[in-house]
Amino acid sequence: MSESIFAKIISGEIPAEKLYEDEHCIAINDINPQAPVHVLLIPKKAIEKLADAQRDDQALLGHLMLAAGNVARQLGVAEAFRLIVNNGSGAGQTVFHLHLHIIAGGSLAESKM
Ligand code: 5GP
Repeated sequence: MSESIFAKIISGEIPAEKLYEDEHCIAINDINPQAPVHVLLIPKKAIEKLADAQRDDQALLGHLMLAAGNVARQLGVAEAFRLIVNNGSGAGQTVFHLHLHIIAGGSLAESKM
C-alpha cells in the first residue's frame, strides 16, 4: 500500500497543525470542513479502513473513542458532537488510512446522518 496523505502528515513530511497528539493518534482540522467543527482523528498506525482492523487493534479503537471525547472537550463541544467513520469508497471514504470525523456545530440534531 502506498503511503496515504495522513501517513505523511503523521510523519511530518507534510506539515499540518495538530490540535491534539498522543502516542497513538493525532487530530487535525479537515481541509474541507463540512461543519463549523470538523476534525479528523487519525491513528498513527496505518489501518486502511475500519473493517480491516484486527483483534489486536481493539485497544487502539477504544483509545480513539476516548481521544475523540478529549478532543471534543478541548474544543468546547463535548455536549454535542458526532463521530463518523466512512468505510470503503462506496461509503465515501477517500483517504485509505482509518480516521474518525469529529463533527460539531450547526444544526446537528436535525440531521441524523
Ligand atoms: P473520508 O472521505 O476518507 O472519510 O475523509 C477524508 C477527509 O480528509 C475529507 O473530509 C477531506 O476533506 C480530508 N482531507 C483530504 N486531504 C487532506 C489533507 O491533506 N489535509 C487535511 N487536513 N484534510 C484532508
